Amino acid sequence: PCTDFDVAYFHSYAHVGIHEEMIKDRARTETYRQAIMQHQSFIQGKVVVDVGCGTGILSIFCAQAGAKRVYAVDASDIAVQAKEVVKANGLADKVIVLHGRVEDVEIDEEVDVIISEWMGYMLLYESMLGSVITARDRWLKPGGLILPSHATLYMAPISHPDRYSHSIDFWRNIYGIDMSAMMQLAKQCAFEEPSVESISGENVLTWPEVVKHIDCQTIKIQELDSVTARYKFKSMMRAPMHGFAFWFDVEFSGPASKNSSATSVASGSSSVTSSGEGNPKKRTNPSDALVLSTSPEAPPTHWQQTIVYFYDPIDVEQDQVIEGSVTLSQSKENRRFMNIHLEYSSAGRSFVKESVMR
Ligand code: SAH
Repeated sequence: PCTDFDVAYFHSYAHVGIHEEMIKDRARTETYRQAIMQHQSFIQGKVVVDVGCGTGILSIFCAQAGAKRVYAVDASDIAVQAKEVVKANGLADKVIVLHGRVEDVEIDEEVDVIISEWMGYMLLYESMLGSVITARDRWLKPGGLILPSHATLYMAPISHPDRYSHSIDFWRNIYGIDMSAMMQLAKQCAFEEPSVESISGENVLTWPEVVKHIDCQTIKIQELDSVTARYKFKSMMRAPMHGFAFWFDVEFSGPASKNSSATSVASGSSSVTSSGEGNPKKRTNPSDALVLSTSPEAPPTHWQQTIVYFYDPIDVEQDQVIEGSVTLSQSKENRRFMNIHLEYSSAGRSFVKESVMR
């Protein structure tokens, strides 16, 4: 059912700013375009659904790649503009804009390809993947292509002394006045909710662990109601630990890339030399598929990273173990919100932190 929360959610996508931010995110938009072009031989002459087309950009890329027909679906009023953009580019006969939810609109044929840019902060915020799954189960032919094909959410412990001193230690001395009485409130206000911000690789204390790996062909909606992962990190350095960072990547592999890998195995050549078609930069091996990463080491994206801060840092030694679990679940107050339940223990002390991403 379409709730009031969904109405507010779709309304937020009727503003130009959010589309401007996404389209200006070149890592995002160019990787999608590249992924579409890389699968051009599969897309040519085929039927595509763009789940949440926004301004229509991905639908138009697919039409340019030779799709026979593209259903561009969006429940937000941005669909009005998408329709005009399609028309202005002479694609009205190929790209059919449907203004409605993928859960509600009717498409009277099976489709070969689903494309969607559904990822939220921390991957699962917004809960839009469920709509991609619905589209898959309603219309995708067996053997069809889903772009992106896989998604992985990671977490890692971080140290961020600058952020901490900027927001908390700041209160120790204000014009010579001891305002440390403000510090408790400052911690509450700064760190109660997860924070979307950019960190660098230098903030990260050790290798990340996988919270959730998603295969878009097989994932079921129920699996997304609540995701729990256990983790165990060993800090590579001595530092105050301020919390955990979360980020994700998505992979674009499919039938087209599988074929070329089979060819390269058969011909016995290495993946570097086997692309054959004369473009060494074109990565076609599934194990080396095109990836859009939002890691602190990757080129920046509008998703940045999401940090769950502790109220008080814990000092960790080199090789000290930090272990526990994290549970991400849809909020009961609004399914677009996400509850984050974090348990962590180190050096015999245990903590729990609950937060909500609104
Ligand atoms: N594809 C565009 C926009 C991505 S943003 C681009 O890449 O630039 C996601 C879009 O999905 C938003 O415009 C939102 O309104 C739409 N959306 C989310 N859930 C949807 C659903 N269930 N049905 C239809 N549209 C949906």
